[in-house]
Amino acid sequence: GLANRLQDTFNRLRGKGKLSESDVAEAMREVRLALLEADVNFKVVKDFVAKVKERAVGQEVLQSLTPGQHVIKIVNEELTELMGGAQSKLAISPKAPTVYMMVGLQGAGKTTHTGKLARLLQKDHKKPLLVACDIYRPAAIKQLQVLGEQLDVPVFSLGNEVSPVEIARQALEHAKSYGHDYVLIDTAGRLHIDEALMDELKQIKETVQPNEILLVVDAMTGQDAVNVAESFNTQLDVTGAILTKLDGDTRGGAALSIRAVTGTQIKFAGTGEKIDAIEPFHPDRMASRILGMGDVLTLIEKAQASIDKDKAIDLERKMRNADFTLDDFLDQLQQVKQLGPLDQIMGMLPGMNKVKGLQNANVDDKQIGRIEAIIRSMTPTERTEPGVINSSRRKRIAAGSGTSVQEVNRLLKQFEEMQKMMKQFSGMAKKMKGKKGKG
Ligand code: GDP
Ligand code: MG
Repeated sequence: GLANRLQDTFNRLRGKGKLSESDVAEAMREVRLALLEADVNFKVVKDFVAKVKERAVGQEVLQSLTPGQHVIKIVNEELTELMGGAQSKLAISPKAPTVYMMVGLQGAGKTTHTGKLARLLQKDHKKPLLVACDIYRPAAIKQLQVLGEQLDVPVFSLGNEVSPVEIARQALEHAKSYGHDYVLIDTAGRLHIDEALMDELKQIKETVQPNEILLVVDAMTGQDAVNVAESFNTQLDVTGAILTKLDGDTRGGAALSIRAVTGTQIKFAGTGEKIDAIEPFHPDRMASRILGMGDVLTLIEKAQASIDKDKAIDLERKMRNADFTLDDFLDQLQQVKQLGPLDQIMGMLPGMNKVKGLQNANVDDKQIGRIEAIIRSMTPTERTEPGVINSSRRKRIAAGSGTSVQEVNRLLKQFEEMQKMMKQFSGMAKKMKGKKGKG
């Protein structure tokens, strides 16, 4: 129908063909910086950038995105993929109890997250049992017991005289006798990985055959987290990770490196000290966070939504009748300016990327301010009929707006191009309408 065809025409106006090597290279420079800033492993960044370049060059630019935005979109998708794509759930044993074993360095958040997982299970009407296997740190058992009391979840402990392996073994028996469907084992950590610790963890693993060995990693440790993850994974074959302390201002590059280097899927994110500060890990959200592009992606959505909804109908009518004026132009600029950094949204204005001069121009807020000033220095007549703006008027407008005659000329030229383009568009639309009327 007509609506579809109009939409198609619209899309074609926005389309910019295929992504060129320079489009991609330019966007990738930003991406590489964002990744390194987020503390992603250097080698991971290098491989990733190469892979995205290969995929992106030659791709059709998506309607309503600029080439730069389109590359970012691909990067976002690839990052998401690299972190496992879809959100990954915890394994459940076909025969109760399901056993989860928490491992990781001291201070990573094992005990805290043992409590948080218990809380999640409890909400799901399960009957978890917490097991205190950290017998080395003085207050460790107490810490788990306090959490248990707070949640009203029982804690299995045999003090600090019995070996952790034996505690784990007996806890499993206890869980079976008392109808616990989940057993969460809190283990000891060290400041650094050492052999004694690994041996102990291996023995616990042998004894209880856990359904998940969850590596608890502090997101703030950045690239160190990767080495830690690698060691734990080699020794224990961890089945997943919980990335903690994401509530800080860390960008979470560790998440990407861990998954890329060790293949370990991150299953949960810890977002605070409180008992319910835990979330399933979403690779897509982490991708945006790592890129620092969360805002840009929202912006893209926001711009599309608000331009489409509020003004599209009005704008479309004006374009059809080819009576789009400099006032409308000003109106559009202002609407767009509220959304944020302009160079990122310019390309979304209908027809804007086909206008000579604006195409590929680095439009910044300052420039837009000057365009605004120029239009504001025009009389109402000049705004609706720019044809009347002769050279003396141009001088007056330039002086009034604190710009130069060249700038005024450039704007008028750009506007003329835009109008020409819109007239073509309206011609097409009328023809289509005519056809529809007859058929
Ligand atoms: P463990 O040694 O691995 O058992 O670590 P703990 O569970 O005792 O946690 C160490 C510290 O980190 C504690 O002060 C926790 O409150 C804090 N912590 C744990 N997880 C988080 C988190 O996701 N966000 C924040 N901000 N703090 C956390
Ligand atoms: Mg602990």
